[in-house]
Amino acid sequence: MRVTNWSGNHTYSSTSVEHPASIEEVQKVVAAAPLVRALGSRHSFSAVADTRGVHVSTAALPDVFVVDHDAATVTVSAGLRHGELVARLDEAGWALHNLASLPHISVAGAVATGTHGSGDRNGSLASAVAGLQLVTADGDRLEVRRGDDDFDGMVVSLGALGVVTAVTLDLVPAFEVRQDLFEHLPWADVADHFDAITASAYSVSMFTDWSETGPHQVWTKSRTDEPPVTELFGASPATRELHPLPGIDPGATTRQLGVPGAWWDRLPHFRLEFTPSAGDELQTEYLVPRTVALDAIDAVRSLGPALRPLLLVAEIRTIAADRLWLSPSHDVDCVALHFTWRQDVPAVEAFLPSLDDALAPFAARPHWGKLFQTSPERLHAAYPRLDDFRALADRLDPTGTFRNDLTDTWLGRRGFPGEPRRLPGSSWETDT
Ligand SMILES: Cc1cc2nc3c(=O)[nH]c(=O)nc-3n(C[C@H](O)[C@H](O)[C@H](O)COP(=O)(O)OP(=O)(O)OC[C@H]3O[C@@H](n4cnc5c(N)ncnc54)[C@H](O)[C@@H]3O)c2cc1C
Repeated sequence: MRVTNWSGNHTYSSTSVEHPASIEEVQKVVAAAPLVRALGSRHSFSAVADTRGVHVSTAALPDVFVVDHDAATVTVSAGLRHGELVARLDEAGWALHNLASLPHISVAGAVATGTHGSGDRNGSLASAVAGLQLVTADGDRLEVRRGDDDFDGMVVSLGALGVVTAVTLDLVPAFEVRQDLFEHLPWADVADHFDAITASAYSVSMFTDWSETGPHQVWTKSRTDEPPVTELFGASPATRELHPLPGIDPGATTRQLGVPGAWWDRLPHFRLEFTPSAGDELQTEYLVPRTVALDAIDAVRSLGPALRPLLLVAEIRTIAADRLWLSPSHDVDCVALHFTWRQDVPAVEAFLPSLDDALAPFAARPHWGKLFQTSPERLHAAYPRLDDFRALADRLDPTGTFRNDLTDTWLGRRGFPGEPRRLPGSSWETDT
């Protein structure tokens, strides 16, 4: 039976999904199959996780949870979901510096796609990776640490370098957070006070439909050891709990109204036991350098009439720069412009080139796990280490075990040299 991604917009082409129960089994599967891809919790909207061969889930690998209190790191099983990891960390007195809007995703899947939360001083979730253990194309085990050659290229891997079995993450001491929400922030305030708004709390998210008035909600997540946000320019403090999507019951969201709680129970917008966001949706996201963010926001707003009928909600967040080659926030502090679309695949696909054209002047970098139609030329311009990553992938995976159609397109590949592992039905062209 074919497996789909969480959204249901993509049916994977894999012939089977294996759930190895040991690293040795992972090694055997990888060494034996011509085409392999690791599969996380399937929350990516793009076909980044697809393969025409065998999917390997790391969810059944033996539980790994090793805290190194001196180094302030934890080593965890790659397939662990954030929602399963966080309470254990909190009990040990530690925290991750940030989380995405949902705790349902796997540690390795989040890292492989450059997934992020929000906060001027918060890098992507991948920026916390201090080490990786993986199984490479020949079935060998490889362990790499921050500081090793090419480590910065191996973290946001798009699943193209091997099956990661364990991830070592930097920790910070556990902390508490309160969420204070605001309604109806005028665009004029966004333009005049952008830096003050995003610096007002540890993590800030603005939700909008890009209409004339301005973001309908601003979520501020303040550490309780820092002053909370009590006023926010022309916005009004929310007096009831809210869902980012207007009119939806806020039951699935994390506690608001200034109620303090553990970091893991406030940094995500949504709770593990509920369907995150709208459920029936597609997503796209571009990260632009912070210095051009207001112009990029204006460019998106100018698309309003064509964009709004497709949109459920949009979110504006900030992410600190990191050193990782394929991270959307590589080397530059960024503002992320996120779009949650109605689940109308043909209409969204027809619109995506206009969005890409509007954001191209800002060197916008698309989120690998979401939907976009950026040309390989634009991707190469936006991601200056893309060719270095391709060379790294060719070196670690010379037989193309972990290649797939989408990453081949992104990397500007034309086919397997000599087609050593090309499968019947593959649409890849042959290099001459
Ligand atoms: C409702 C919703 C909300 C979201 N919110 C956010 C958000 O706030 N911020 C954000 O940045 N993104 C967000 N996303 C996107 C999501 O975080 C990413 O797409 C992420 O990759 C999903 O992780 P996953 O475990 O589902 O990975 P999958 O989709 O299963 O796989 C993604 C990639 O990771 C690779 N991979 C997975 N496991 C391994 C492994 N063990 N070894 C090697 N490679 C591996 C796969 O091969 C694939 O290339 C959201 C998605 C949804 C559905």
